[in-house]
Amino acid sequence: MKFNPVIEHLKTYEPGKPIELVVRDFGIDPKDIVKLASNENPHGCSPKAAEAVAEAATLMYRYPDDSMMHLKAKLADRFGVAEENLIVGAGSDQVIEFASHAKLYGGAKILQSEITFAMYQIYAAQCGAGVIKSPGIAHDLDAMYDLYKKEEPEIVYVCAPNNPTGDCLDRVDIENFIEKIDPDTLVVVDGAYQEYAAFKDPRKALDPATLIAKYPHVLYLGTFSKAYGLGGMRIGYGIASKEIIRSLYKLRPPFNVTTLTLVAAEAALEDRAFVERTIADCFDQMKRYEAFAEGRGLGTIESYTNFITLRLDGITDSTALADALLRRGVIVRDLKGYGLNAIRVTIGKAEENDRFFEVASEILDNGTK
Ligand code: PMP
Repeated sequence: MKFNPVIEHLKTYEPGKPIELVVRDFGIDPKDIVKLASNENPHGCSPKAAEAVAEAATLMYRYPDDSMMHLKAKLADRFGVAEENLIVGAGSDQVIEFASHAKLYGGAKILQSEITFAMYQIYAAQCGAGVIKSPGIAHDLDAMYDLYKKEEPEIVYVCAPNNPTGDCLDRVDIENFIEKIDPDTLVVVDGAYQEYAAFKDPRKALDPATLIAKYPHVLYLGTFSKAYGLGGMRIGYGIASKEIIRSLYKLRPPFNVTTLTLVAAEAALEDRAFVERTIADCFDQMKRYEAFAEGRGLGTIESYTNFITLRLDGITDSTALADALLRRGVIVRDLKGYGLNAIRVTIGKAEENDRFFEVASEILDNGTK
């Protein structure tokens, strides 16, 4: 069968290995598995979100409210923007997909940092677009600007904080960069982990309302999958000028967000105490990873997210370590595919982190076999 030639060369995105497959492939009891691979909130979601879903369960026979009236009102209120500045997707992934289709046609290009969220280039490739990468582990905004002038891409991605490294640009530097970008280029500012960054350091905090007011070519992305603990519900959002949102809306399939997802997000957004409490715990637990890394001579990158990158140069091979951890039921992310001899570990609950330290120490002491 013939397919669109564009998809011929595409690789399928590989998410963190699900618990179900570790149970099946290694015969490990699910209760002995610790998943620290997908940057979920280890404390789950707000109990209020779970209650709202249970209450709304009988409504699942009806299509969702496609206007997403209640959630949009809450998001508009939270961010101080108009509802016309908002689009809600099945994960912020879907908003990246809309943006890609909206801007990438006829030999278009995207510009991104070399090591950043994989979906930017996957959606670009699906649209037949080229991918320009500025080199280096962190976003190098000067190098990005030089490439921007040379290559004239249609979309520029800034991921703050960045996945999979965890580092984060300062707000001022992001704004100075956006200032120089032509208004016809879409600048996607991905704030998937902003709740964490803003908690840790106000210099990293982005205000979407200010951003879009100052820069009408910015699309800000947020998600409920991380701090809000709703990864399984698939919901994220984009905030941008009305003009950008109008165009993205044309690409949105009807009923793209389910009824239960909408009520979960509405309730989760209200429970600020849950979010604050779990973020505080994340950074408390992160100190233990920093101490572990220091004790073992592993490199780290200062993280403004709910995960930490452990660099293994001179210690061991990241793929071998990630595999050895997996065989013992500890799921982490190998960053070899990004060109880094490092693993990315989501900060878990205290007892999950205990297990990571125990198993990782045992492997580092005795080898990865
Ligand atoms: N952006 C970044 C930087 C991410 O890390 C992720 C999730 N891994 C997403 C966007 C997409 O999140 P979701 O589709 O779950 O909202």
